[in-house]
Amino acid sequence: MTIEKNKSLKEYTTFKIGGPAEYFAEVKTAQEVQEALQWAKDNQQSVKILGGGSNMLIADAGLKGLVIKLSLDKLEFDDLKVTVGPGIRLAYLLNKALESNLTGLEFVAGIPGTVGGAIRGNAGTYGLAMDSVVKKIKYADENGQLKEITATEAKFAYRHSIFKENFWIIVEAELELAKGDIKVARVLVNERLKYRQDTQPNLPSAGCIFKNILFEEVDLKKLAEKNIDIDKFSKFKKIPAAHLIERAGLKGHAIGGAQVSDVHANYIVNNGRATAEQVIMLISFIKQQVRDKYGVQLQEEVQLFV
Ligand SMILES: Cc1cc2nc3c(=O)[nH]c(=O)nc-3n(C[C@H](O)[C@H](O)[C@H](O)COP(=O)(O)OP(=O)(O)OC[C@H]3O[C@@H](n4cnc5c(N)ncnc54)[C@H](O)[C@@H]3O)c2cc1C
Repeated sequence: MTIEKNKSLKEYTTFKIGGPAEYFAEVKTAQEVQEALQWAKDNQQSVKILGGGSNMLIADAGLKGLVIKLSLDKLEFDDLKVTVGPGIRLAYLLNKALESNLTGLEFVAGIPGTVGGAIRGNAGTYGLAMDSVVKKIKYADENGQLKEITATEAKFAYRHSIFKENFWIIVEAELELAKGDIKVARVLVNERLKYRQDTQPNLPSAGCIFKNILFEEVDLKKLAEKNIDIDKFSKFKKIPAAHLIERAGLKGHAIGGAQVSDVHANYIVNNGRATAEQVIMLISFIKQQVRDKYGVQLQEEVQLFV
């Protein structure tokens, strides 16, 4: 494991925003994760974790302390069981699963990023998320000790897991897939990729900025009075944040190089010269506008390192 100094992080993120890491280490094994944690402890440095960088905004001034880039890339198939390292890209995992005649991961089609980041945030779409396939997770705790929990213990919920409550680093996961109709699965994957191409911006972004709003979190009657068509969203029992942002008239609204996408209102895109500060200002503005117009407090899905 090599510790680099003053490493630019921009290119490690899909937003293409942010300054350098004071210290940076790319690790490939659980043992290297432990070594990196020990180095940080010995040198009294804070630690941050980088997966695929597709769900984060990094400060313009960069990050103090040590950034650990997780590149653990184990991938083993054993009947329905898949053992996978956190550094494996979701797209690669999906392809390898289909090649092995296994289904169950079609929902990740088009989600960038790695297995580690996806488990931590319980990433998903179309009503399915990582909790539908994860069985066990190995992680390094804050002291670098390796431990294992089951999916039930991982407290998965909508875009949530126990890894958001603790500074634990996922080092391996066990998934269970199914023997399904691969032809049907491939058609579904291609349809979804095409749908994403048609409905998502192709400028740098961090995906959806805000979580969608669960029905149980809001006063549906009040929203209906404000002409929000609740029935339209009853299938997944969530009001898309994009719908409220668009209805608030914010599509295309820009602060500097940061802009609410014209294509999908829950995306902030980087027009090539956006700063983290501009993105943060735009996030605050959107939250204030949606709160004033609909009484709904939006919550960030993107992880802010600012
Ligand atoms: C165009 C686009 C479309 C997207 N579509 C979707 C979608 O449909 N559904 C969806 O859910 N998300 C979507 N996302 C968001 C993002 O791709 C997912 O949240 C993804 O799972 C993040 O994984 P990552 O490896 O990039 O995580 P990162 O961005 O690297 O990290 C995210 C967080 O997880 C932490 N982390 C990363 N790896 C680990 C680990 N091994 N152990 C502990 N903590 C870790 C990081 O410290 C950070 O806090 C989209 C993003 C983009 C850019």
